[in-house]
Amino acid sequence: MGTWLQIVADIEASENEAAELARKVSTWFVSKGIIAATPAPRLSTSDDIEYLPGPKAESVLDDPGEGSLRPHNTVSITTGRTVFHTYQDSFSLICEKCGAHNEDGAVWAEAVGEWYDDRGPGILACEKCGFAQPITRWRFDPDWGFGFLGFTFRDWPSLDRAFIEDISTVLGHKIVYIYTKL
Ligand SMILES: [Zn+2]
Repeated sequence: MGTWLQIVADIEASENEAAELARKVSTWFVSKGIIAATPAPRLSTSDDIEYLPGPKAESVLDDPGEGSLRPHNTVSITTGRTVFHTYQDSFSLICEKCGAHNEDGAVWAEAVGEWYDDRGPGILACEKCGFAQPITRWRFDPDWGFGFLGFTFRDWPSLDRAFIEDISTVLGHKIVYIYTKL
């Protein structure tokens, strides 16, 4: 069991743009029947806005036969500084200069914390070659996303890749797509 999450994170939106872009995308989702027209009653204590599936939600699934979308499977919209991640311990950071897999959790956790707490850019140096850049620009395997806006599909069957690209187009920004299990 467990909960499957598909997260589409905007990795280019600024903090100031996030709320307006969230409205733009939710309006687009409603117009296509992907989500209900009004947010669901607040189900959790987070500030995320949650929506139940709309009448045409299945039109954005990769394979409608893969599993059923249930009426309580929400889409939540997160705004605010967020590390969108896989909730898994096993991942590595890959250096774009030397290709080394950086595995030292304590070091990267400090860099992630610095960015998340807005104390600085969270510069992380490669443990092998020393190449340094902000944590937000490191390549995570599997992908993570650092940003201010994200859309989380909770327990939805696999989304159609073209739909995910359409979200990126509506945003006008690069996105990261994370498919993981809680
Ligand atoms: Zn390196």
